[in-house]
Amino acid sequence: MKIRNILLFTAILPLHVLSAQTKVIAHRGYWDCEGSAQNSIAALQKAQELRIYGSEFDVWMTADGVLVVNHDDVIAGLKIEDTPFAQLKDLRLQNGETLPTLEAYLQQGRKDKKTKLVLELKPHNTKDKEDRATAAVVKMVKKAGVKKQTEYISFSLNICKEFVRLNPKAEVAYLNGDLSPQELKTLKISGIDYNLRVLQANKQWIAEARKLKMTVNVWTVNSEADMQEMIDAGVDFMTTDKPTLAQELVSKK
Ligand code: MG
Repeated sequence: MKIRNILLFTAILPLHVLSAQTKVIAHRGYWDCEGSAQNSIAALQKAQELRIYGSEFDVWMTADGVLVVNHDDVIAGLKIEDTPFAQLKDLRLQNGETLPTLEAYLQQGRKDKKTKLVLELKPHNTKDKEDRATAAVVKMVKKAGVKKQTEYISFSLNICKEFVRLNPKAEVAYLNGDLSPQELKTLKISGIDYNLRVLQANKQWIAEARKLKMTVNVWTVNSEADMQEMIDAGVDFMTTDKPTLAQELVSKK
């Protein structure tokens, strides 16, 4: 092929076909360092300082409808979705911060528009609660002025569908690993965000997603060997507890 033709061919290819560099997402923020803790505001701030693609965090809704950032469903023996916020607000994280509200978290997020906010909404007990939590999240993201930098993920297919319905332009990826890209495409979900072992066992899903113009994210990739394998496989995003190591490997490519 002549050089001119190669250039022409390259120019008409959509960007995602040219395998772009894998981008790094800090899992629950950058917490594996001094003064930080998983899902703390400090962890988001430290992730922002790394100049990586984004920072992931987990969201629950309390019994009285307040959105808070925490991984586990239970904190200090209290089940978040069954407990009013007043009983949770003074609980401390490991770095001494109080349990962050989503509102406070997003205020930190908006300070750095370049760091994407990868918001995981946790599956709640009932569809009704999930629907209310999803609507409240979308409303708060809009109010905080971070709509453009926020992407959504969930293990709950219902929550993913609600995010798509309420915000059709948003990036929404499904975490549960049990559906093919094609199945998710029919639901207008924009990406897969699957466990490392699931993707290793179903590598064809990476090519399938690419063909469908969907994104591929993989979690939680912490060893150098696994990171290299996923970078070589051409995933779009890698979610990791070791963002500095991942960034180093990605930039070597
Ligand atoms: Mg998470």
